[in-house]
Amino acid sequence: MSALPVSSLPSARYLPPSIAGDYTELTPKQTQLLAIAARLGREKFAPRAQQIDRDAVFPFENYADLREAGLLGICVPEEHDGWGADFATYVMTAAEIGRHCGATALTLNMHVSSTMWTGFIADDLDMTAEQRTNHEAHRKVHYQRVVKDGKVYSQPFSEGGAAAAGKAPFGTLARKVDGGYIVNGKKIFASLAGAADYYGILCTLDKPGATQRDSLYLAVDKNLEGVSVTGDWDPLGMRGTVSRTLIFKDVFVPEIERLIPEGIYAQAALRWPHMFATLSPTYMGIAQAAYDFTVQYLRGEVPGTPPVKRRMYPTKQIAVAEMKVRLEQTRAIFLQNARAARVDPSKEIRLGLYAAHYTIMENANEICRLAVRTCGGQSMLKSLPLERMYRDSRCGSLMLPWTAELCIDRLGRECLYEAGEQDEQAVL
Ligand SMILES: Cc1cc2nc3c(=O)[nH]c(=O)nc-3n(C[C@H](O)[C@H](O)[C@H](O)COP(=O)(O)OP(=O)(O)OC[C@H]3O[C@@H](n4cnc5c(N)ncnc54)[C@H](O)[C@@H]3O)c2cc1C
Repeated sequence: MSALPVSSLPSARYLPPSIAGDYTELTPKQTQLLAIAARLGREKFAPRAQQIDRDAVFPFENYADLREAGLLGICVPEEHDGWGADFATYVMTAAEIGRHCGATALTLNMHVSSTMWTGFIADDLDMTAEQRTNHEAHRKVHYQRVVKDGKVYSQPFSEGGAAAAGKAPFGTLARKVDGGYIVNGKKIFASLAGAADYYGILCTLDKPGATQRDSLYLAVDKNLEGVSVTGDWDPLGMRGTVSRTLIFKDVFVPEIERLIPEGIYAQAALRWPHMFATLSPTYMGIAQAAYDFTVQYLRGEVPGTPPVKRRMYPTKQIAVAEMKVRLEQTRAIFLQNARAARVDPSKEIRLGLYAAHYTIMENANEICRLAVRTCGGQSMLKSLPLERMYRDSRCGSLMLPWTAELCIDRLGRECLYEAGEQDEQAVL
């Protein structure tokens, strides 16, 4: 049989695969959202990512594109004119965005969480009839802002103390007054500082003996008197998140800005733990991007670089194989965890969740490390995206409430103790 002429052979370039892997069955909505995210990511976000990172500025243009595509309302329920994405659909879409610009995906997560927590998560929680009616009225206002007016929310909960790690009540206090709350406090590392229209803050109802059960989730208009942004922002990675410090000084927040009823946040944290696992999809995307880059680089196919092939060296092949093994491990646990999300998960699902979050965060950084090590010196020039991925990937396992350390901490304890079990004093 004669060989085909070279010109009639199919294109032999590497085609980056779906973030969900070809073996995954997607719903029509997932297919549609992944296609939108991939197109925006490739055509708009990736070309802008270098400047956003270099200047440590918020990706406003990307948000204009997300707004136009309706993605600000990805987790807004369909009856409120959003996409009505469930947990799995959202995290896959977030991972696809993270593939092209980590800072955009990470900040979008802060915004989307405000609609997810008030949406399908709140629907699964116990509320009195009065609380449910009240919640419906509040979230309607909030969703209209997102869907009709394109407003953006952030989610500052970190304060520098044990609260963001889930070990103490939030130090930011909300005192109940006629028609609303007076808020005082400080939030550090507040992504979208100065960029979001509303800061969705976690705080504690100011009353004697308040505990974590008294946590409140309030939307604070950035233009309210007493709200200010301070501090500089020049970090190692995720520079486009612009996570500066927010100060709240005697800020009057109207009652309608309470995003979920009093007392419900604590119930959500206990019964819907996947609500804290929405940061890792960004890093799943970065892991895939670092692998894609490595394959293209070793094949001599990275745009703007000389078409020098390096793929024929056995050491490079071994390194790529090692990256692929880690990537597939990461994707498998990412997808399994995405589909397992539910209210009142079993102990096995909960432990699997900590393991998944830990694995994605740590593997993303390891895959980026291997990518730089394998591609070599020229690949880490700032004109190429790999060194940014490497720096961005370092941030994942540092993020509260589930840092890599805290995942291990929870896993170790919960593997060895059943609920309510304690050691007798003598063995301690
Ligand atoms: C790029 C980026 C964006 C971010 N965006 C946001 C955001 O939008 N909103 C937000 O709320 N936060 C955000 N964060 C903050 C993040 O979640 C952390 O709160 C922040 O990085 C501070 O972490 P740290 O390691 O300095 O905290 P640490 O000072 O180490 O920890 C704070 C406290 O948590 C407790 N703690 C920490 N580790 C342990 C442990 N191993 N065991 C027991 N207790 C422990 C301790 O009480 C400690 O004092 C962001 C962080 C980054 C890097």
